[in-house]
Amino acid sequence: MSNFPPFGEQHELFRQSVRSFTEREIRPHAEKWDEERFFPNELFRQAGELGYFGLRYDPRYGGSGLDYWYVGILIEELMKGRNVGAVVGLLIQCELATNVIHEYGSEELKQEWLVPAIKGEKIAALGVTEPGAGSDVAAIVTAARRDGDEYVINGSKTFITNSVRADFVTLAVRTGGLGTKGISLVIAPTKLKGFNVGRRLEPIMALSSDTAELFFDDYRVPAANLVGEEKRGFHYIMDLFQGERLVLAYISNGYAKEILDEAMAYAEQREAFGMKIAGMQVWRHRFADLLTEFQASRLLTYYATERLTARDPESQVYVSMAKLYASEFAKRAAIECVQVFGGYGCMRESYVGRAASGVAGFSVGAGTSEIMREIIAKQAFFTTTKFTG
Ligand SMILES: Cc1cc2nc3c(=O)[nH]c(=O)nc-3n(C[C@H](O)[C@H](O)[C@H](O)COP(=O)(O)OP(=O)(O)OC[C@H]3O[C@@H](n4cnc5c(N)ncnc54)[C@H](O)[C@@H]3O)c2cc1C
Repeated sequence: MSNFPPFGEQHELFRQSVRSFTEREIRPHAEKWDEERFFPNELFRQAGELGYFGLRYDPRYGGSGLDYWYVGILIEELMKGRNVGAVVGLLIQCELATNVIHEYGSEELKQEWLVPAIKGEKIAALGVTEPGAGSDVAAIVTAARRDGDEYVINGSKTFITNSVRADFVTLAVRTGGLGTKGISLVIAPTKLKGFNVGRRLEPIMALSSDTAELFFDDYRVPAANLVGEEKRGFHYIMDLFQGERLVLAYISNGYAKEILDEAMAYAEQREAFGMKIAGMQVWRHRFADLLTEFQASRLLTYYATERLTARDPESQVYVSMAKLYASEFAKRAAIECVQVFGGYGCMRESYVGRAASGVAGFSVGAGTSEIMREIIAKQAFFTTTKFTG
């Protein structure tokens, strides 16, 4: 693990660029966007112009041909803006809804959807979860029936981020029989007849996020919008989940850093019984534990980044470990940090109090902690690799 993490001069320059973007365009508006339950579409265009959506993508499509380290830096810096909704929205565009087009889409799909998404001119969403199928992706029922050179889609999705403003949804549909082998992915343009946006939802940890239900009523899309091969969708989703889970690990770490910084600053100035909170041994030790766990979480995430960047076959397990650890640590950190503020931490005015109220979302989105444990345990038992080496 020499030179780990491998951050050099180019990484630092990129970090500075994202930091000043965040300070200028996100942090001053963070509270207002949460109150308004929305952040402006303009943010997508600005991020696109700066190249943030194509970090890992082929320069032929407007990308920069870099790797997950740059995505990690992007998230670490964006999270300092303290608006999780905006970060999640931008990362859906940067990774979650577009990476499958980049990996498996036809040249036509790349030109029509990926290229403008990288520029920030078209907004993307990822539609997998349904009212009756979340963790169990193989149970989705939204059906796509082939009719000539079109698919006719009927069904619904829920919890879909970016979906009210999206220009297209990378949509999981059932084109075959039950189970994992009947699922396909299609690019679903949102402006066509039969595509209906239902209720707006309010993710507590990402209030500015544009999250909603979707309904498809004899909604027709060109058959050419199929991503890759028919009935390979489950395999593609599982493949793209690796990047998605790594993103959630970085978001969880970024969230933990912000609340820890805030709570430590408060502990250094708040006095009780004639002494600073940070001067009390019980609190000093609690912070020492939190800082130790924070570093463990960050380093595990970096390790998973290294394995995923190297396309190591075992990277799925390390990514799952990083997502599990980081999102569960964020919950523990939130409870401790709110306590530091006493009554102030319980008021809406308190950043840490507000941030803590939705922290459970990190261990649910992009695969729950229970599913992460399943993945880790399945790989560790009854195989030769024990992940203890
Ligand atoms: C803020 C937010 C944004 C989201 N954005 C999107 C999006 O853009 N696109 C999208 O497609 N989805 C999105 N989701 C949905 C997310 O992926 C699902 O919520 C998640 O996969 C869990 O599915 P579920 O909510 O149906 O829970 P369920 O699958 O019903 O799980 C309920 C509980 O049972 C547990 N459980 C399930 N199976 C097992 C098992 N085998 N063993 C042990 N325990 C189990 C789960 O861990 C959980 O605790 C988003 C979710 C959130 C919170």
